[in-house]
Amino acid sequence: MAHISKSAFVRGIQCPKQLYYYKNSYNKRDALTESQRVSFKRGTDVGLLAQQLFPGGRDLTPASPWQYKQSANITRHYIEQEAAVLYEASFLYDSLYAIMDIVVNTSGSLKLYEVKNTRSVKEQHVLDASFQYYVITQAGFKVESIAIVYPIESPDDYDSTKPLSDLFKIEDITALVQERQSEIEKSSQYQVNMLLEPLPPETTIGNQCFKPYACDFMGLCWAGTPPNAINTIIGIDDDKRRILTEKQLLPR
Ligand code: SF4
Repeated sequence: MAHISKSAFVRGIQCPKQLYYYKNSYNKRDALTESQRVSFKRGTDVGLLAQQLFPGGRDLTPASPWQYKQSANITRHYIEQEAAVLYEASFLYDSLYAIMDIVVNTSGSLKLYEVKNTRSVKEQHVLDASFQYYVITQAGFKVESIAIVYPIESPDDYDSTKPLSDLFKIEDITALVQERQSEIEKSSQYQVNMLLEPLPPETTIGNQCFKPYACDFMGLCWAGTPPNAINTIIGIDDDKRRILTEKQLLPR
């Protein structure tokens, strides 16, 4: 049975076919564009900086992204050993898998922190935190709260003589996440079953290819769609045109 991580789950919510390709045709994804590369690098840098808000933690970054059970067992061990702060801790519930950026553990009661390089909490952040919360609570852990940590200004402009807490906002979204739990259960079950099918779902291209994230499989999925049909199907604005030209699906 295929495992579903947070990033797989949010893909499946955006478009089930995208999740199917992610699990079955991973090597056919589009090459990363320069703006995606820059954005991922910034996200990683912000994540490492935010760890310093909770210093002295143990880094549990999995040795391999495929060692789900082993990584989750290591996390469980350190929580049981009362390690106070964990970075990149893994959790597994059936085939659902979550890695939490920062976990603060007080005698087995966990505070969860997901770091985002954003300037405000958006729907997609609540959705992926809801998935994390679902996996972690269903795996049997007691969760006290879950929050999004994000910089209120660009870290590049930040005056490093000021305390780091001036740069980051910690927004508690526990109540929002708890409201979404039955939806997460239903959607994750649908995704597990959908991935057992021999063929991808028949989703047609549309606006979901761009939001909240540009799909990595446009090259595969849009192959053969003539450039003049794209405008008819989705309507082109500047943002879509930039994405499509970066992916070489429209001429520059
Ligand atoms: S290109 Fe669009 S329709 Fe195709 S898999 Fe991606 S999101 Fe789905």
